Amino acid sequence: MAKPKLIDENGLRIDGRRPDELRRIRMEVGVLKKMDGSAYIEVGGTKLYAGVIGPREVHPKHLELPDRGILNCRYHMASFSVDERKTLGMTRREIELSKVLREALETVVFLEEFPRMMVDVFVEVIQADGGTRTAGITAASLALADAGIPMADMICATAVGKVDGTLVIDINEIEDKYGEADMPIAIAPQLNSIVLLQLNGRMTADEIEKGIMMAQSAIKKIREIQVDALKRNYKVERDGLEKWL
Ligand code: ADP
Repeated sequence: MAKPKLIDENGLRIDGRRPDELRRIRMEVGVLKKMDGSAYIEVGGTKLYAGVIGPREVHPKHLELPDRGILNCRYHMASFSVDERKTLGMTRREIELSKVLREALETVVFLEEFPRMMVDVFVEVIQADGGTRTAGITAASLALADAGIPMADMICATAVGKVDGTLVIDINEIEDKYGEADMPIAIAPQLNSIVLLQLNGRMTADEIEKGIMMAQSAIKKIREIQVDALKRNYKVERDGLEKWL
């Protein structure tokens, strides 16, 4: 397929969004009853579940650490989640994204509070339309909170892209495929920290800086949706969750 026009004459994107507009985001907590914690997220056409089990004993035993717990993360795409059926089993990309997910989450989880134990984090992509790693990190944070795993913050993530020379937030699959650059960013707002920053493609240093600012602003909205999902699940007083905002 030839590269489609990604920004029209009115400055709007291929799905009609403004450059700084997120896709429709929906989050639910406590959706998988066989998990200790779980969440569902939809970011436009990207749909995935996150599940958490633990803390539990480490198997195999020799992997346990005397002074801290282990996060065992598994990012997986259902074979029906993409246009071309994905092969069964874990691909190299899924193994790498499992590591990306673990390294982001390890920055906020208090691993030292569960030595010799492990926590399993599953991300299962049901439908992929760009931004599955970032949606996975956002949902996994909610699932960890739902499981009561001690954390310094919940992570919120999105991807900034450069399409037809314009910086845009929360890119979809077409923008990812035909754009000039894709920059996934994950932020722990309470810690005022970026906990994941990747770049595929080409951007100037100025564009990277502007892109980070766009992500920081978008993440406020993502955090509100996260907190709202927790509130709906726990029906707690508004005050109880305000510390996350
Ligand atoms: P992310 O989903 O985090 O943006 P990538 O940049 O690797 O990760 O992928 C971008 C998008 O490309 C995915 O969200 C998905 O829509 C699509 N994609 C990824 N892997 C495959 C695959 N094996 N087959 C078809 N489409 C894929």
